[in-house]
Amino acid sequence: MLDGKGPDAIFRNGLVNQEILLPKCDGCGRYHFFPRVMCPHCHGDAISWHRASGKGRVHTTTVVRRKPERGGDYNVCMVELEEGVRMMSRVDGIAPDGVKIDMAVTAFVADADGTPAVFFKPSEV
Ligand SMILES: [Zn+2]
Repeated sequence: MLDGKGPDAIFRNGLVNQEILLPKCDGCGRYHFFPRVMCPHCHGDAISWHRASGKGRVHTTTVVRRKPERGGDYNVCMVELEEGVRMMSRVDGIAPDGVKIDMAVTAFVADADGTPAVFFKPSEV
């Protein structure tokens, strides 16, 4: 741990700096998410942090219905990153029902109600 900060704080600090940092276990070499103190695969506690490539694919997608006056429908998806971890997020820059399973997406960091969070957009082909 860095300066007594938990793994969740390290992840959030990364986002503040526009960086998506992923925890990777030095023991088994696998990434995991959400950030944890111990590796969920092998229970090792030697965790190092690596910048995500930002490349991923849509694993599941759902359209959440919302009244137009409240912002309209939006997309909720689970994205599997190249590193093998999955994140619950949203794909922007495309109609909510235009998001398809296995679509290539790229991560970016943007403000979500005052807190930086990870979102995705369709990858440039
Ligand atoms: Zn491990």
